[in-house]
Amino acid sequence: MIHITDPADCCGCTACASICAHDAITMQPDCMGFLYPTVNTTLCTDCGLCETVCAFNEHYDTSLNLPQPEAYAARHKNMKEVETSRSGAAFIAISDWILQQGGSVYGAGYTDHFRVVHKRATTREERDEFKGSKYVQSDMGKVFRQVKQDLRNGMIVLFSGTPCQTSGLNAYIGKKLCKNLYLVDIVCHGVPAPYLWRDYLSYLEKKQGAKICWVNFRDKQEFGWRAHKETFNLLKGQER
Ligand SMILES: Cc1cc2nc3c(=O)[nH]c(=O)nc-3n(C[C@H](O)[C@H](O)[C@H](O)COP(=O)(O)OP(=O)(O)OC[C@H]3O[C@@H](n4cnc5c(N)ncnc54)[C@H](O)[C@@H]3O)c2cc1C
Ligand code: SF4
Ligand code: SF4
Repeated sequence: MIHITDPADCCGCTACASICAHDAITMQPDCMGFLYPTVNTTLCTDCGLCETVCAFNEHYDTSLNLPQPEAYAARHKNMKEVETSRSGAAFIAISDWILQQGGSVYGAGYTDHFRVVHKRATTREERDEFKGSKYVQSDMGKVFRQVKQDLRNGMIVLFSGTPCQTSGLNAYIGKKLCKNLYLVDIVCHGVPAPYLWRDYLSYLEKKQGAKICWVNFRDKQEFGWRAHKETFNLLKGQER
């Protein structure tokens, strides 16, 4: 069974919890809010599947990797999409293509006062919530199992996330079902802690004496490409 001794050996992707047929694994936050698997040993049958599926396991299947990376550069033709995306809006172009074919798109959005979570979208309106980087570890919830269900139902699926999340999903889905699965992994230097983000929002609200009603980790329309300023709208008079 999975047992994390070094926190650097787990990205909280949920592949292990999703593959466990006995639901013996739950994801628990550490003191910073990073999620790690905890095994209920009374439910566990020691089948070993959770260890096999983990992308941090040395036997992780890399047979689908290209011998050399192939690089292409792309930017969306519509400048409105570029302005409201974090970078060149390739994600929007690719996910539009998936949605046009009746597929589902998964990406990072918000719940409960800007807690970052992964969600499913089947319309452009739902998908637009995934635009833009959220510099926090995203909680996968039950999304890996939803992806598998969509694939089993014959849908075409796009999953976007960090490279460690996509490699965890890839291993969980396996070769039989991966034909209709498109993975978009972002360039990522690591995810900040969820509780740091939660506490920062509380600090700002206390300081400003108003509730935050909108956030943007990098507002290109307001500050251009180079600035790295978080932008918040407050309910009190919509101040910035
Ligand atoms: C945690 C993090 C670290 C990053 N580190 C780097 C870096 O080191 N160097 C660099 O050049 N760029 C970095 N980026 C920026 C990222 O590579 C760009 O956001 C991406 O390339 C934008 O492409 P786009 O314009 O097509 O997508 P956008 O429209 O900006 O869409 C955002 C995409 O990112 C996904 N996403 C957003 N937040 C998260 C999250 N918290 N977890 C998982 N997926 C998420 C969404 O699902 C969506 O697919 C980072 C982004 C994040 C979220
Ligand atoms: S499968 Fe994912 S969540 Fe489970 S131990 Fe490995 S990295 Fe962590
Ligand atoms: S060893 Fe098997 S039964 Fe035990 S937690 Fe891992 S996947 Fe579940």
